[in-house]
Amino acid sequence: MNEPKCPACPARRDRRLLLCNRCWRQLPATTRGRLALHDPRMYGRREQLNRALAAHTPLAIIRVSR
Ligand SMILES: [Zn+2]
Repeated sequence: MNEPKCPACPARRDRRLLLCNRCWRQLPATTRGRLALHDPRMYGRREQLNRALAAHTPLAIIRVSR
């Protein structure tokens, strides 16, 4: 197996997911719901997530736009 690294911790994540399960569950439910949407704005939301992670924002308070 060659799973990519979770961007928020040293664990590995499933290729289909943005974060490992443990980190994903720490995000607010609203954020999880929005990040799971597949629409034209999904890349912007992922960018917001990556920027929050780069700024070491705690997972529990990361928000992305609708
Ligand atoms: Zn993780």
